Amino acid sequence: MSSLEIKNLHVGIEGKEIVKGLSLTIQPGEIHAIMGPNGTGKSTLSYALMGHPAYEVTEGEVWFKGQNILELEPDERSRLGLFLAFQYPVAIPGVTVANFLRSAINARRRAENPEDKGIAIPEFRKMLKAKMDMLKMDQSFAGRYLNDGFSGGEKKRAEILQMAVLQPSIAILDETDSGLDIDALRIVADGVNTLMNENMGVLVITHYQRLLNYIKPHFVHVMMDGRIVESGGPDLALHLEEHGYDWIREKVEELG
Ligand code: ADP
Ligand code: MG
Repeated sequence: MSSLEIKNLHVGIEGKEIVKGLSLTIQPGEIHAIMGPNGTGKSTLSYALMGHPAYEVTEGEVWFKGQNILELEPDERSRLGLFLAFQYPVAIPGVTVANFLRSAINARRRAENPEDKGIAIPEFRKMLKAKMDMLKMDQSFAGRYLNDGFSGGEKKRAEILQMAVLQPSIAILDETDSGLDIDALRIVADGVNTLMNENMGVLVITHYQRLLNYIKPHFVHVMMDGRIVESGGPDLALHLEEHGYDWIREKVEELG
C-alpha cells in the first residue's frame, strides 16, 4: 500500500513546538488540501516531511510503504516515491533542467541496483520530450540552468516537470503565501491535474483558496496553531473563500 499516514506528528524549531499533533492519511488517487492562515505551521509540516535538518520531530510517525519515513534521509524518502516540492527552490547555475532530471533518474536507478549504468541518453531525451509535450512545455526549457533567473511560473514548471519524470506515489506541494501569480497557480494546477492518476496521492498545502479553483481536492483540511482543526470536502474551501478563517478560530476557542 502506498498510502501516506501521518500520525500525531509534533515538530519544533529551535525548541519551540510548531506542529502540535497532526494526523492525516492520504490514499492513492486522493487529492488533499491543507489550508490555513499564515504562521500556523504549514511549511513546517512540509519541511518535516521532507526531512529538513532544522525541523525537529519530537513525537509521532509518518508511515509510507511499510516504513516510518522519519527514520530515512531526504533522498531515501524521494527514492521510496515521495515527491516534495520546495517552497523556495534553489538555483543551480551550470546544471540544466535536463541534466538535473537525468541525475535524479540515475540516482534512483542506482539506489535500486548499484551496477546500473544509468538511463541511455536517447531514451532519456525521448522520455523527456514526451513528458514536456504532455505538459505543453517548450522543449527549450530543458536546456536552461535549473531555477537560474527563473520566474515564479518557471520554477513551478520545473517542479511539475520533475514530478512528471519521477512519477511519485505521493506528491507534496507547498505553495508560497505570496508572490505566486495566477499563471504560476495555473501551471501547478494544470500539472497536477494532468499527472494525477489512481496510483498517486497529492497533498497541496496552500494559503490560497484560489488555487483550489483549479485543483479540485477530494478533502480539505484547515490547519491552525499546528493542528488540523476542521476537515471536509471541496465545499469547505469554498466556504473559507467566502467567510475566511475567523469562524473556525472562534469555534476552536469555544472548544478550548
Ligand atoms: P505557514 O507555512 O503556515 O505560514 P510556517 O510553518 O512557515 O507557517 O511557520 C510557523 C511558525 O514557525 C511561525 O511562527 C514562524 O515564525 C515559525 N518559524 C518557521 N520557520 C522558522 C525558523 N526557521 N526558525 C524559527 N521560527 C520559524
Ligand atoms: Mg508556508
